[in-house]
Amino acid sequence: MILFGPPGSGKGTQSKLLQQSCIPGPHISTGDMLRQHIEAGDAMGRGAEHLIKAGKLVADETVNELVKQRLSEPDCRGGMILDGYPRTLNQASVLLALISTYGFSPVVVHLVVDNERIVARLSGRRICPVCGTLYSLKTNPPKVPGICDLDGAKLVTRPDDSEPVIRERLNQYELQTRPLLDYFRREGVPVFEIGGAGSTPEQISNRICDELRAAGLAHASARKRAKRGVALTSDAGVRN
Ligand code: ADP
Repeated sequence: MILFGPPGSGKGTQSKLLQQSCIPGPHISTGDMLRQHIEAGDAMGRGAEHLIKAGKLVADETVNELVKQRLSEPDCRGGMILDGYPRTLNQASVLLALISTYGFSPVVVHLVVDNERIVARLSGRRICPVCGTLYSLKTNPPKVPGICDLDGAKLVTRPDDSEPVIRERLNQYELQTRPLLDYFRREGVPVFEIGGAGSTPEQISNRICDELRAAGLAHASARKRAKRGVALTSDAGVRN
């Protein structure tokens, strides 16, 4: 499943919820993978860091190679959720060719959220560097300001969550990524449009699973597992 949408549309949150409910397989986020390389201080991380901080896209060859390697791992044999990939026409065509060699049929879920809500969501977003929990200063703040409820770590702001960089990320999305929706449709890939705001994250993931099941594209028996899902708050609540 390709989870598609602008930065801040909730792809990360939805990936985790969908994994627990109707989409088996790993959650693969190229943004997370690139940040791990930055953390490790290796050559790929050093090459990507300034681009990410400026809100620009990292080179196609770099992310294509990351995804190619990741998809060759055994836990991907039953399918996977792709978050933040593909973002360019080149990446999309490389991906479709790659997954056809594995015999997968892709499906796109497009999370639709308007730009002003995204800027508000991302500029108030704080992250726990230890467990990855996301908070929103306005609608879902930690109990103690600046501290993770779960492990007491000091919360951080992602360096690309400042307003000018958010606007550049949105600009890159409009220019390079949104046009992929037409490409997918032309290639016969089913695209599901799902409102990504105004409901709780669980309601949104339930809607996605219901639509996929109705189209015969998701497992019917997984609903029970959804009940064990992580409790998140409402959009307005925005744990992106
Ligand atoms: P968001 O979806 O909120 O922008 P991500 O964590 O997915 O957050 O991505 C953060 C940054 O990592 C992007 O702005 C871009 O610089 C880089 N990046 C992630 N995925 C890709 C990709 N598929 N192609 C190019 N750059 C990417």
